[in-house]
Amino acid sequence: MHNTGDQLLKYNDKRVPEARTMACWAPIKSLYFGFRGNTSVCCFNKIHVVGKYPDLTIREIWDSAKRKDITQRLAQNDFSLGCMGCEELIQAENFKALPAKNFDVLPILRTGYPSKMDFELSNECNLECLMCRGEFSSAIRRNREKLPPIKSAYDSDFVDQLEEFIPYLENSHFLGGEPFLVPIYLDIWERMVAINPKIRISIQTNGTILTDRIKRIINSMNFDIAVSIDSIIEENYRIIRKNGEWKKVLPNIHFFREYCREKDTHFHISFCPMIQNWKELPDVVKFANELDCNIFFNTVFHPKSCSISSLSSKEIFEIVAFLSEANLSSSTSIQEENRQSYLQVVNHFKLWEKEALEREKMIAQTGDIADLESYLLGLKRYLSENNDLKAEDQSSIYEDIESKLNYIIDVAAENNLHETATGHIIEMEYKTIVQSLPQMDREHALYLFKSFVTPLPD
Ligand code: SF4
Repeated sequence: MHNTGDQLLKYNDKRVPEARTMACWAPIKSLYFGFRGNTSVCCFNKIHVVGKYPDLTIREIWDSAKRKDITQRLAQNDFSLGCMGCEELIQAENFKALPAKNFDVLPILRTGYPSKMDFELSNECNLECLMCRGEFSSAIRRNREKLPPIKSAYDSDFVDQLEEFIPYLENSHFLGGEPFLVPIYLDIWERMVAINPKIRISIQTNGTILTDRIKRIINSMNFDIAVSIDSIIEENYRIIRKNGEWKKVLPNIHFFREYCREKDTHFHISFCPMIQNWKELPDVVKFANELDCNIFFNTVFHPKSCSISSLSSKEIFEIVAFLSEANLSSSTSIQEENRQSYLQVVNHFKLWEKEALEREKMIAQTGDIADLESYLLGLKRYLSENNDLKAEDQSSIYEDIESKLNYIIDVAAENNLHETATGHIIEMEYKTIVQSLPQMDREHALYLFKSFVTPLPD
């Protein structure tokens, strides 16, 4: 059993007493439907799949033994069924960013139904943003990755099956792709309007789509809306959010802002600070302040051509120096929150600057880890230095990981992507690999690799 010890006690101190009997309530209160029918208890845990649609009905997935397994584990503070990300945040005492805490506030329904269902059913999207992947944009998959479309597992029967659950839902999050472009989302929302319009819906949109049907739907319900922008300069917006036009998006941003004001729902903008747009950061905070809304900054690690973490220490130092000069106002609470978010980004860049310095020193001394063989040697060392396991267990974990990585590379090689896949693997942290790969079969490992690391045909 995993135990986060003192940090878990500290976390529990911050929770309402009745929540403390479970490390996380997601398995009791929630279901998340992901791409290709894979269903888990939350969108942060894609490792422990509790059922697959349409192999199982929604009812069968909700009643599945696998959902009961993860419930029991989390009741024993055991995060090993795919919840390692949350465990790590608890260990780091970063409770603010902890996804698990969001489930404390949802009700447990006596009826035994989930009070939250989240949907990531389609990658339909009209934009091809620089930092995005085909897994999240059908346009990128078609035009940049030249791969066939991801076949949706979800059909009209899925919408019909949801009818049993809709009356009990309190809250529902729709991810994309671009949610307003996904036909099945419009069908689900119209079903929700008819059965239970009180469900609080949240979406993240690129702000390019606003039809009469969408206006009708959102006016009949309560939507929390976040708009991703990544630039407020017309020319730069066009480069970063390919196929998008800032001039056309801006009026929609104002429409959504007003809608949320009138409905008293939440509105924010989100922004990915990157090599291509860091100079805009002070102005984008001012833009959010003018809209009187929060700005949420994502952290971009991939691709390297966008991530500030891939720059040299000297380049990051210069970025930090420029951003530290900004004079941001803090006369309202929202402005102060935005200023704090901005400072967090600058602090993160400072951390990357330090890491870049260490990396540069290491490369100067030993050369780069450039091949799979060196990476696997490092993995062996990591296992022996960082695990309480006996030597024979270490070696069976090592063999298991090695055979799964080789399997992934073989599949990539069949698609002429051997080098790309190897390059991505040797960038992965040992910790992530050791915590996740041993507990999934090789097909699931391949599925996650295809989804989040290197796009490969289905
Ligand atoms: S602990 Fe985290 S990853 Fe696990 S179910 Fe809860 S929210 Fe999801």
